Amino acid sequence: MRTFEEYVSLAEKAHGHICAGQILGLRMALYGLRLLGIEDPEVKDRKRLVTFIEIDRCATDAIPIVTGCRLGKRALKFRDFGKVAATFCDLAADRAVRLVAKESSKQRARELYPRLDSKNAQQMRAYREMPEQELFDLQWVRVRLAPEDFPGYKGQRPLCAECGEGVNFRREVIQGGRVLCRSCAGERYYEPLG
Ligand SMILES: [Zn+2]
Ligand SMILES: [Zn+2]
Repeated sequence: MRTFEEYVSLAEKAHGHICAGQILGLRMALYGLRLLGIEDPEVKDRKRLVTFIEIDRCATDAIPIVTGCRLGKRALKFRDFGKVAATFCDLAADRAVRLVAKESSKQRARELYPRLDSKNAQQMRAYREMPEQELFDLQWVRVRLAPEDFPGYKGQRPLCAECGEGVNFRREVIQGGRVLCRSCAGERYYEPLG
C-alpha cells in the first residue's frame, strides 16, 4: 500500500482537482480493504477484488485509485443509486463489506473546523482525520456474482435480432423468442435521429 499522501496526489491527477469527495473516497476504499485484509491490491491481490459503487460523484473517482478496480477491467460495477456508498467484494474469501458515508459527517466537519472558510475546506481537513467509525456505516453483505459478472468471463456474443449489434457478457434479452439487445428490448436511452 502507498502512503495516504501518495494516494491523494494520484487522485488529484486522475480527477482533475482535489476535493472533500476525493478524500472521502480514498478513506472509504482504504477502510474497505483493511476490513477485508487485502494488503496488496495493485500486485498480489490484483484479481481478488470487485467493487460496486453507488454514485457518480467525486468519491467515485478516488476509489479505484486505491483498489485498482476499473470499469474497463470489469472489476468496477456502477449502480446508480445516488448514495455515497460502495461494496468491496473479496473474491478469494467470498465475503463483502458495504460502506456508506454517514449523513452526520458533514455536520461533524463543521463542528471540528468552523474557522475554515468553505465547506469543502472543512470537510477536506476533517475527512482526513475523523475515525472511520465516524465517517462510515458498515455492513457485511453477500453479493451474488454470476459467472458473466467476473472480470475474466468469456462467452457467446449473439447479434441482436433487431439492430444487428453484437452483445457481450450475456447482456442479451430473450423477448417473444427473439434474442435482443437491451436497447431494442426497451431500455434504449437515446433516440436515433436518422
Ligand atoms: Zn471533486
Ligand atoms: Zn438491438
